[in-house]
Amino acid sequence: MKIILLGPPGSGKGTQAKLLAEKLKVPHISTGEIFRENIKKQTEMGIQVKSILDAGDLVPSEITDVMVKNRLAEVDCANGFILEGYPRNLHQCEALDTMTKLDKAININVSDEEVTKRLSARRTCSKCKKIYNLDFNPPKVEGKCKCGGDLILRDDDKPEVITNRLNVYHESAIPILEFYKTKGILVDVNGEVGLENVLTEILNKLGVSNQ
Ligand code: AMP
Repeated sequence: MKIILLGPPGSGKGTQAKLLAEKLKVPHISTGEIFRENIKKQTEMGIQVKSILDAGDLVPSEITDVMVKNRLAEVDCANGFILEGYPRNLHQCEALDTMTKLDKAININVSDEEVTKRLSARRTCSKCKKIYNLDFNPPKVEGKCKCGGDLILRDDDKPEVITNRLNVYHESAIPILEFYKTKGILVDVNGEVGLENVLTEILNKLGVSNQ
């Protein structure tokens, strides 16, 4: 099955993509993850995109579209994939449409209030980058990671920035959702019912058993 996962930041789409990929035995492709790997390995592309990711801007289409096209052409994608982080605008929807024929576009719905709550409760270790959530996955020692590093609230997880990220998200999401709705492959799921229940709803709507 060829699937894309859509949803606001903090909707859990990365987690669901991972779980779904394991279940359906297809690769999980995250464009953000590919960029981060290239930056870590200091490839030519990684060096080119580092400052763009640092600023939180979108990597230009010339780079992103080619990268996705090449990745989807790899042999492990022959039976399907779970793609997350792409498309992020209408241009990318149209580009993806020329690369492959999707089966479903899954949209994980989470209210702005819940996103704000989840992201403001997120804490990142300043040393090893491990992520905690004060509500669901709190650290054993307050303010400290298990590696001993201090836990911080990321600048872009601060309430005033979250509001802006949500505005940016909604602006780009409307045409994307409309694009897949028109194609008749948009599937809406409730992202506020707990990780396992969200997965079950997705699998049910895909007609796959959760065994
Ligand atoms: P993510 O992990 O999905 O939040 O992506 C991290 C960063 O990678 C984004 O802030 C962008 O700089 C870049 N990125 C990921 N996916 C895309 C995309 N589809 N188009 C352009 N830039 C992207």
